[in-house]
Amino acid sequence: MAYKISDACISCGACAENCPVAAISQGDTQYNIDPDTCIGCGGCAEVCPVGAPVED
Ligand code: SF4
Ligand code: SF4
Repeated sequence: MAYKISDACISCGACAENCPVAAISQGDTQYNIDPDTCIGCGGCAEVCPVGAPVED
């Protein structure tokens, strides 16, 4: 199951640095996950300081 990033994101960039498949990119107001690339590993949720990545 892919993950998505909620509007709690503070754009710290930690998740993008740790994603093994480079599914996360910086958007205008927050970071975003490409659901077609995400393999659902949960790594982004583990490193996020605000719990923004959640299962979609
Ligand atoms: Fe990347 Fe894993 Fe997060 Fe998907 S769940 S965006 S593969 S770190
Ligand atoms: Fe946003 Fe969390 Fe990713 Fe930082 S780690 S960019 S707060 S989703």
